[in-house]
Amino acid sequence: MALARFKALDLAQSRQLTPVKVPSEKVTEYFGSLIFNEEAMRSLLSPDTFQRITKSIKEGHKIDRDTADEVAAAMKSWAVSKGASHYTHWFQPLTGTTAEKHDAFFDIVPGTGKAIEKFKGSALVQQEPDASSFPNGGIRSTFEARGYTAWDPSSPAFIMENAAGTSTLCIPSVFVAYTGEALDYKTPLLKSIELIDKAATKVMSEYFDRNTEKTIPTLGAEQEYFLIDEALFNARPDLLMSGRTVFGHAPAKGQQLEDHYFGSIPPRVNAFMVEFEIEAQRLGIPVRTRHNEVAPAQFEVAPTFEEVNLACDHNALLMDLMQKVAARHKFKVLFHEKPFAGINGSGKHNNWSLATDTGINVLGPSTKPKESLRFVSFLVCVVKAVHDNADLLRAAIATAGNEHRLGANEAPPAIMSVFLGSEMSRVIDTLENMPPMTEFKLEKGDNVYMKLGINKVPSLLLDNTDRNRTSPFAFTGNKFEFRAVGSSANSASAMTILNTIVADQLIQFRKDVDALIDTDLKKELAIVEVLKKYIKSSKRIIFEGNGYSDEWVEEAERRGLANIRSAPEALGVYTRKEVAELFEKYDIFTEKELHARYEIELENYIKKIQIESRVIGDLAINHILSTALKYQSQLVDNVKGQKDIGIEEKYYAPTVETIKRIAEYTAKIQILVDEMTEARKQANAIQDSAEQARLYGTKVKGYFDEIRYYVDKLELIVDDDEWPLVKYRELLMLR
Ligand code: ADP
Ligand code: MG
Repeated sequence: MALARFKALDLAQSRQLTPVKVPSEKVTEYFGSLIFNEEAMRSLLSPDTFQRITKSIKEGHKIDRDTADEVAAAMKSWAVSKGASHYTHWFQPLTGTTAEKHDAFFDIVPGTGKAIEKFKGSALVQQEPDASSFPNGGIRSTFEARGYTAWDPSSPAFIMENAAGTSTLCIPSVFVAYTGEALDYKTPLLKSIELIDKAATKVMSEYFDRNTEKTIPTLGAEQEYFLIDEALFNARPDLLMSGRTVFGHAPAKGQQLEDHYFGSIPPRVNAFMVEFEIEAQRLGIPVRTRHNEVAPAQFEVAPTFEEVNLACDHNALLMDLMQKVAARHKFKVLFHEKPFAGINGSGKHNNWSLATDTGINVLGPSTKPKESLRFVSFLVCVVKAVHDNADLLRAAIATAGNEHRLGANEAPPAIMSVFLGSEMSRVIDTLENMPPMTEFKLEKGDNVYMKLGINKVPSLLLDNTDRNRTSPFAFTGNKFEFRAVGSSANSASAMTILNTIVADQLIQFRKDVDALIDTDLKKELAIVEVLKKYIKSSKRIIFEGNGYSDEWVEEAERRGLANIRSAPEALGVYTRKEVAELFEKYDIFTEKELHARYEIELENYIKKIQIESRVIGDLAINHILSTALKYQSQLVDNVKGQKDIGIEEKYYAPTVETIKRIAEYTAKIQILVDEMTEARKQANAIQDSAEQARLYGTKVKGYFDEIRYYVDKLELIVDDDEWPLVKYRELLMLR
């Protein structure tokens, strides 16, 4: 019998509900209780220091030594009062996970052996983790593996409980090499936020709202995930090692009934959700929505949107937290984009907009004339930015995991397009077809907006019926939703690029409009004239139809839109000259940093496919083949026995057929695994990482589906009692 599988199934079947301690206070009372927020600062800092630090945070200035010392002292006493014994700079290296290096608050007074509590401003501001084992894409050779982390005061410090019951003060930080290059996700994100703030604020203050002094990008990241029993997860070496199942026949009942979507949440799952939500809220993460997703065992959590830097930190922290809480409920959270074949994958929908310090969401339609022009200006600039930089956005979401999802007929296609909805499309059409503004005659006393007909933009899209789930980049009423981002991704990567390309476009917009104003065209008319031009040059990116259809693939090709299916090819966009120039121009990435990122992404890709390939080889030969051949021997014995006692051949002929099929499939598997191993060897011998990634993505990965095909066939033949891998129906049916 397949012992490991059945033991795991027994365990999963016998799970008890893990009780959740629900706080007696209201959410409003414990929300943010574990973060060093403005309230905590106000109560612990002198009014003077409080003013200085909040001003620095708001304006993004450096913090002086004395302020840092006082904040550190306050932060320490606050953290200790909450039970923290250690502190760490908390950062997001390019491994894709979060990193910490814990130091104790206490220190020994030299020569006395006496312990004292200590946390200086210098330790708050900067820490030196051994950077040698984090990916750096060739920026540092390991012998000079020195980098440092530096406090990001715009994201509040928080307290994380460890499994041992102790807790640590975590200080959100950037991670930079001593030579100055960024080695993390946060550094370029912060730069892109500053860039788009300046660009959007200029557009706002010069054309639409003189009072705007600051504009920040906002992000609400909807996180999809699968939840699997821990014992079943551990019994699947492929899940354990690569985060996805490399084999497994589709269950008789999958998602075809669509009865899971928004259905009732199983009690054990609900307990897990309630607990991680409470913990998230204590950490100031505004989680709000929970529901089942389309696939069985698939769920979603969504927070209320926040400033993008905070939202990215919160999403990374939430993923970490979910995994920790899941362990208490004997679950594993799968963040992989495609853990199961034939079943929907998972994304992280990045809802993005821009908010001003005067309380305006620039992508919010309005019934006021002036605001309508503002709205269409930003809307069209985003569309043009996506049009002009579609390949770059595609690169931002290219990973081995997301490669399974994009264009796989059930997720946003690999073709970048923008969905606007029928109402907004009409608005854009009307605008495009206006006569030349230079011929536009305004009489004295005319209302320019009325005359233009842009006095009102209907806000119909907030209605759910006009949604398009197949679009990679959709306007959803008052924000854009970048749906193609992978569920395991750090949102900062996509957000950095989106901020940068939109900022670039807004800067260009001002140049274009100002040039027309200089020819004595009225401001509003100049804006309309420029928007018309933008719409003409970028409207081919707008697509309202079914993004999953084959017709769209053909149509997109006719329109000249790129369809970059493979991740290595998408990543190649980072090596384009104009891309390097764009990032250098705004000091988001130096060419060296950009190249390092490209190398790291390629390396990640290669490693992931390499691991999957090894897992496939190991499982196919050592688990599947051996089991199938044993079962075949039993059948052979059986047929011999039937023959011996004189049973007519027609009765055992079907069994002979089965024996033959097992022989065929096992032989195929053996040959294919050998060939795949050979392909791996050839790929490994290649020095150039782009070529190596290409080979892994085509030659090595090219064997995956075929091997799987034969293994999944065997799953349907071999005695269920002997099948070594937990089956899909067992993994996916949660209780
Ligand atoms: P749905 O996609 O089902 O309409 P919601 O309207 O709740 O869901 O929004 C989805 C996500 O978009 C949420 O995280 C929400 O906070 C976020 N969101 C709403 N408005 C904005 C905005 N102006 N900027 C960024 N995100 C936003
Ligand atoms: Mg949504």
